[in-house]
Amino acid sequence: MAKDKMTLLWFQTGSCGGDTMALLSADRPSFSDLLNDYPIELLWQPSLSIESANNLHEMMNQIIEGSLKLDILCIEGSIITAPNGTGMFDVFRQTAKKDWVLKLADKARYVVAMGTCSAFGGVHAAPPNPSDCVGLQMDKEQSGGLLAPEWRSGAGYPVINLAGCPVHPNTMTKTLAMIASGIILQLDDLNRPREFFSSLVHQGCTRNEYHEYDVEESEFGTNGCMFFNLAAKGLLPKRRVIPTSGTDEVAKRVLAFLVLAARHPVFLKTKACLKLKS
Ligand code: SF4
Repeated sequence: MAKDKMTLLWFQTGSCGGDTMALLSADRPSFSDLLNDYPIELLWQPSLSIESANNLHEMMNQIIEGSLKLDILCIEGSIITAPNGTGMFDVFRQTAKKDWVLKLADKARYVVAMGTCSAFGGVHAAPPNPSDCVGLQMDKEQSGGLLAPEWRSGAGYPVINLAGCPVHPNTMTKTLAMIASGIILQLDDLNRPREFFSSLVHQGCTRNEYHEYDVEESEFGTNGCMFFNLAAKGLLPKRRVIPTSGTDEVAKRVLAFLVLAARHPVFLKTKACLKLKS
């Protein structure tokens, strides 16, 4: 292994594997370009490595003992803590995966949560949450994950949360490329890199122009904007991360309310009636 390369280990916990699938679609850079063009040495990735689980076990023990360095630890999946906090519903070699994660995180320079599950608990943490799932350092949007709020990796970061179910493929590879290039990551209030999580999908959408001209579609397969009738839930979740003062935030919410109210059927009906009367 080249000494100047950063080692990367990808470990799956309570996961559907969707982020790994998404990773294969990355193109700026692709995962193979990431490994070829940036100083990253892949120790293990569950779907891409040819090494056996025995090799993984050995590598993880070497990392924990300190004979193998770990620069980047990527975790994919919720942290399962049931039953009764033991984590024994999800094990690797008779040890709860949550305990492996704790020990590996302690050695890593960077810990990256790949996906909403590992960042916040995700779909597995939805009530009634029988497996007591949490995120790595957060439980939904609050602290309360596996790692304490004050926990920091070797490089001084909290867990770097790449939200998304799955994460956008290029967000994964670009974040890893930034880390490997020594670029300082600016994180938002949910510990997501601002580089990728500070604007709405809507603002970068190629259909945005239709929105400007009020061409709002109500059926899929058409050409116009899907903001109000078809895709609002997909567009709005990032709103919390735009850095604003309290006053700006109130103004923004009032504006959003007025925009939505202006398109409410009751308002449109009243407008039509007034037009008829005049
Ligand atoms: S965040 Fe979504 S894609 Fe990733 S492991 Fe969880 S359910 Fe699967």
